[in-house]
Amino acid sequence: MPAPKQPLVFIVSGPSGSGKSTLVQKLLELPGTMLSVSCTTRKPRPTENAGKWYNFVTEAEFQQMVERGEFLESAQVFGKSWYGTPRKWLDEARHKGLDLVLEIDVQGAAQVKQKLPGAVAIFILPPSRQELERRLRERGQDSEEEIARRLEQARKEILAFREFYDFCVINEDLERAGREVQAIAIATRRRCDQNVEQVSKILDSFGG
Ligand code: ADP
Ligand code: 5GP
Repeated sequence: MPAPKQPLVFIVSGPSGSGKSTLVQKLLELPGTMLSVSCTTRKPRPTENAGKWYNFVTEAEFQQMVERGEFLESAQVFGKSWYGTPRKWLDEARHKGLDLVLEIDVQGAAQVKQKLPGAVAIFILPPSRQELERRLRERGQDSEEEIARRLEQARKEILAFREFYDFCVINEDLERAGREVQAIAIATRRRCDQNVEQVSKILDSFGG
């Protein structure tokens, strides 16, 4: 029996408000994908039910998970709450034969790329600072001070993202950006190194 195929890992990052969550949904519409549900120490927002987007844990619980080596990566985001990707999702994806989608920040992406060099990292950009600011305001989630902080963080991330990311998608027209993230996933699945077994079966049908 051949070993189960390693899942593809798709990392989606980008500035707050660039449209990551919206585009992750588009990736999850592709058959054969599953979401990695992160753990976080931040408090749930009124619209968030536990277990869907995050597992909400205490700082002590998070620390225990770190000590037990349960995270593929973990980071403190915006110098406040902790976030981490449990390794168990990789096992589950392998077991189910699915590809895994991680929505994580740039610190986490760097850690995952170091551990899993085959992971495919996609960076989402807003079309401009003005549009990012408009989206953050319209979302109505953050104070003026927080919006200013997120815009400055966005500038830094856009300056530096090329070091770890394989693709960038500009989220201006949502339909188009959605098609582009899906196209990246589909094209990655068709890479020669992802299809060795299928090709060898075809070759067998020719008599080897
Ligand atoms: P992130 O997860 O990166 O913080 P969201 O996916 O929550 O960003 O998107 C931020 C806001 O911008 C949401 O209100 C979302 O509906 C909106 N949005 C996302 N993509 C677009 C787009 N292409 N055009 C206009 N608004 C968008
Ligand atoms: P929010 O609290 O607004 O949902 O997310 C804040 C930031 O944390 C986003 O940039 C998001 O991508 C990032 N994030 C969410 N989950 C994880 C995770 O498991 N690991 C890391 N490193 N970042 C995460």
